[in-house]
Amino acid sequence: MVDLRPWVVMPGLVDLHAHLPQLPNAGVGAGMHLLAWLERYIFPLERAFDEATAEQLAPAAFRAFARAGTTTVVAYGAIWQPSLDACFRAAEAHGIRAVIGKVMMDRLSYDTQLEPNEVLELSLRQSAELCERWDGRDDGRLRYAFTPRFAVSCSAEMLRESARLAVATGAYWQTHLAEDRGEIQEVRKLFPDALDYTDVYDRAGGLSPRAILAHAIHLSDREIARLVESGAVVAHCPASNLFLASGAMPLGRYLAAGMRVGLGSDVAAGPDVSIFGVMRAGAYTQNALHGMGLGSTAAMPPAAWLRLGTLGGAEALGLGDRMGSVEDGKEADLIVVDPSATLPLPGVQASADDGPDEILSRLIYRPHPEMIRGAWVRGRLLPA
Ligand SMILES: [Zn+2]
Repeated sequence: MVDLRPWVVMPGLVDLHAHLPQLPNAGVGAGMHLLAWLERYIFPLERAFDEATAEQLAPAAFRAFARAGTTTVVAYGAIWQPSLDACFRAAEAHGIRAVIGKVMMDRLSYDTQLEPNEVLELSLRQSAELCERWDGRDDGRLRYAFTPRFAVSCSAEMLRESARLAVATGAYWQTHLAEDRGEIQEVRKLFPDALDYTDVYDRAGGLSPRAILAHAIHLSDREIARLVESGAVVAHCPASNLFLASGAMPLGRYLAAGMRVGLGSDVAAGPDVSIFGVMRAGAYTQNALHGMGLGSTAAMPPAAWLRLGTLGGAEALGLGDRMGSVEDGKEADLIVVDPSATLPLPGVQASADDGPDEILSRLIYRPHPEMIRGAWVRGRLLPA
């Protein structure tokens, strides 16, 4: 028995969308359009993310997630297979719960050495090998996600074959959807027969309860209904959406429709790994929509944001029975926070009336870098 009072025990945070190679450039490029930002700040990093670089960066990235209270992360690597092995080795040693995938691109790729048809075959084979090696490792703590980057950088065949592999192996399938208006235009040109962006992935066989779609902020009613019907998960990344001026998700509508939604940092388009920061960005976005008469529901209270970032993420991964809440029988993916770090005046206690809602509100709106005092997965303390 360990008495941690006056610290507070909470469920570990779940980040449904992050990019491991991109962390060094977090915080630069605000307001750039997605495709220009990728060329300027992201592809150079991913191109250089070889095995040696991954061996150096991935352990530091997992410690940063643990410091921020994230106990589960769903991440993209780069396109190089050995760097993915290095990422998985780092996650295995660190102790974090992780779903990771090798980025697949057979169009608009940063690998200029290979012909597109060679890329397709190689990318599918290497992804299948990685899945075989790592999916389910350590009793399911490590999982694989087939990871076609997005429709702009994938042929229809790449999308279809990657989805087929995900179905065949039971692994996850992750990609980006409807993040930016320029991106949507591009997809319309590349896939003229599709009804809309969501239909591109639907035709590929990608939509299922194991699909994790990042962003999805510009959707038609048809697309919303189809995503709900398919059971696909949306990784809501509001800090990223504000940073890259992508837009504002009508979250209230999605939730009312029954969509499965969790939260994602999307580092490095999101400037920080903190899921508390993502909750704050999301809450401000919904407050702005509501104040402008554009949101269909009233602002969400802190507890609703916490749910999205914990149990919502766990359920999105089909792991709601193992993690996401502090309950008997779960696997003890927990964090401990020090609420006094968030007080407005150091040393001056809050009124005695501060209950869970007030404590949580300050964690979201008045974060302190030292407020997370520990993060555990299956009861094992994560290096931070
Ligand atoms: Zn992303």
